[in-house]
Amino acid sequence: MSVAVPAKTFAQPPVPIFSTSPVYQMACKQLQTVAGVMDCDPGIIERLSVPKRSLVVSIPIRMDNGETRCFAGYRVQHSLTSGASKGGLRYAPSVDLGEVAALSMWMSWKCGIMNLPFSGAKGGIACDPTRMSRGELERLTRRYTEEVLPIIGPRVDVMAPDLGTDEQTMAWIMDTYSMKVGYACPEIVTGKPVEIGGCVGRREATGRGVVYCIMDALHEMNIRPEESTAVVQGFGNVGSVVCQELVQHGVKIIAIGDRDGAILNKKGIDIVALAKHVQTTRTVKGFKEAEAISNEQLLSTPCTILAPCAMERVITAENAGKVRCKLIAEGANGPTTPEADLILQENKIFVIPDVLCNAGGVTVSYFEWVQDMAQFFWDESQVNEKLKELMRKSYHKVRALSLQKNLPMRLAALTLGVQKVANEKATRGLFP
Ligand code: NAD
Repeated sequence: MSVAVPAKTFAQPPVPIFSTSPVYQMACKQLQTVAGVMDCDPGIIERLSVPKRSLVVSIPIRMDNGETRCFAGYRVQHSLTSGASKGGLRYAPSVDLGEVAALSMWMSWKCGIMNLPFSGAKGGIACDPTRMSRGELERLTRRYTEEVLPIIGPRVDVMAPDLGTDEQTMAWIMDTYSMKVGYACPEIVTGKPVEIGGCVGRREATGRGVVYCIMDALHEMNIRPEESTAVVQGFGNVGSVVCQELVQHGVKIIAIGDRDGAILNKKGIDIVALAKHVQTTRTVKGFKEAEAISNEQLLSTPCTILAPCAMERVITAENAGKVRCKLIAEGANGPTTPEADLILQENKIFVIPDVLCNAGGVTVSYFEWVQDMAQFFWDESQVNEKLKELMRKSYHKVRALSLQKNLPMRLAALTLGVQKVANEKATRGLFP
């Protein structure tokens, strides 16, 4: 369905602080590949290869046992060209500046593909939220908000949940910011609870968007959902909704994995029962109606659809050749390395790339921000209808470019995203 395209070589990113990070290198490599097929001023590509603004903060908090601990926190704004910067906040032990910078760059392309009036940003704290109490997480979140206060704002930079954070995290940020400015300011974050200005359907939006893309791809491949099987990595916000929505379309989910292990049942996993199990144990591991498998086995389980919905760089040069599916739908950000991409192309596996596939989250975040700004709220059917319309429109725009120029789907998607931001930069010109 696609061919590899050779990349032109561009200068190294001018800020070396990021360049030791493999995730950031991966994002830069993708940008260089796009630059190789795009007609664009190399000066603009150079400006886009390094984030506009990055803040590293130390977050001291009192732990429940009375000790004081300092955590490293980051907020990176890749660009401020297209509107307020927008992007999630992640809590995970692996978080570092390079990872956050790469994720902020992908957010810029994603907003470009979806034609949203936002630039890309991302934030994170290096911590293990599964080993922290609610009180510790609240103190961590409130102090982080205080530390990044100088560079956030409803028209400057708006956060949302990501790996390890949720609606409650956003509520604490909203409250801390509102206390600082002196009035209730729901538009400072998206993905917050509905009762304080959140949007109905936001929690499910990323997973729903993934499934809209899968359904259009299956249709084109002449595969009926009822005859399809799926393997999903991650059973959090994104993965669990992908499972629920796929089941609604008649797809059989045969394997699911998370941080602690993976499970397989070729007859189909009962997602409602699994969700109850996860609610009490916080993991899919130990679910009785399935056999235990390793995370490696999970990714090589034969299936129609493989949906990585956990974290970046899980499909690599080492395991890409073992992947046995027809379609990969990237719910997670950056799950496939560029080297793995080439192997998947050779094996004719159709990939719906992250910047398109998981863009449902930021799209409904945009709806939430618009509603908060206007103080006028939509019902869930309006939200879902509009999400479906925008996701399908972008999917078909990317697919059309991919077919027209014979580009892999990832390259077509990134080209659309980068082109939009590059055009805006060119039109605005260089200050001063
Ligand atoms: P989450 O914290 O709700 O869930 C993450 C899931 O991944 C959990 O089931 C966890 O156990 C699993 N996981 C973590 N580390 C793993 C590992 N090493 N191996 C296997 N499984 C592992 O996070 P989420 O919000 O569902 O985000 C998942 C991915 O989707 C991330 O890449 C995130 O950037 C991306 N994403 C999320 C949103 C959103 O709206 N939440 C939007 C766009 C993209």
